[in-house]
Amino acid sequence: MIAGSGYLGRFAPSPTGPLHVGSLVAALASWLDARAHNGQWLLRIEDVDTPRTVAGVDQTILQQLSVCGLHPDTPPVWQSQRSALYQSALQQLIAQGLAYACTCSRKDIEIALVARGHTRTRHAELVYPGSCRLAPLHPMARARAWRLRTDVLLPPHAPAPGTTAHITWHDRRLGPQAQDVAQAVGDFVLQRADGCWTYQLAVVVDDAAQGISHVVRGQDLADNTARQIWLQRCLGLPTPQYLHTPLVLGADGAKLSKQNGALPLDLSKPLQALNTAAAVLGWPAQAGSVPEALATWTAMATAHGGSPVGP
Ligand SMILES: [Zn+2]
Repeated sequence: MIAGSGYLGRFAPSPTGPLHVGSLVAALASWLDARAHNGQWLLRIEDVDTPRTVAGVDQTILQQLSVCGLHPDTPPVWQSQRSALYQSALQQLIAQGLAYACTCSRKDIEIALVARGHTRTRHAELVYPGSCRLAPLHPMARARAWRLRTDVLLPPHAPAPGTTAHITWHDRRLGPQAQDVAQAVGDFVLQRADGCWTYQLAVVVDDAAQGISHVVRGQDLADNTARQIWLQRCLGLPTPQYLHTPLVLGADGAKLSKQNGALPLDLSKPLQALNTAAAVLGWPAQAGSVPEALATWTAMATAHGGSPVGP
């Protein structure tokens, strides 16, 4: 068991590009939260989306974190080496009748939505209308993806019987949150047609397998939380506490990301990078060494009720 408080946190970057200041905010916040709670901080490389993974970037990220003084308490894990865990979770869901094969192409989903008289979309993604949910898979059909049912009341033998996918939760920074996953997203994908495990399945399985008690991550991921809580309930796994950190906005007001060309961190000036990230979290800039700055912010977060986001 974990020494001290039982707090276990993590930072879980995707190796699609080097860390930029936006991802450093999440790294620093999760590290500070763990330190302020006298807990442990783990590192997980989320490389299940193999087409988007860039070779060697995982090592760059580990080096960037190290230069910034953010050292994990146990050796990092790579999701690409954990397929057996994800396969086992999917088998459990299939056995419970909660996951099913979907052979729909994107075009099939568009046609089904139009036939129902609506074209609801969410973040440019189509809300899946459940076409394959009750249709027995044609024997010749190749399963393109596996989806999780969101329309069900969990049955009496399920880990959380009587629960629906109308999810409410409390975010430590954003306050009370709610989402009806069936309405907002529909039955979502656990394993893609190309065999890749989805972020939703891998993150839920790994958070539970690693005993993560607190998730601190960027606000751009807040929208995934209801889906992940539903998946936890379907699998009978505990729900961690969540805190979503403020986003770094570019000059155009859009969220800064690897995708819109955020500059990677300057490894020769780690304190400058950390000061930029700390400012987003509401902490004052520090002079001196990286360890001194981290110790000062840890003391401030501890004094601020153990919050990694400052006043
Ligand atoms: Zn389908």
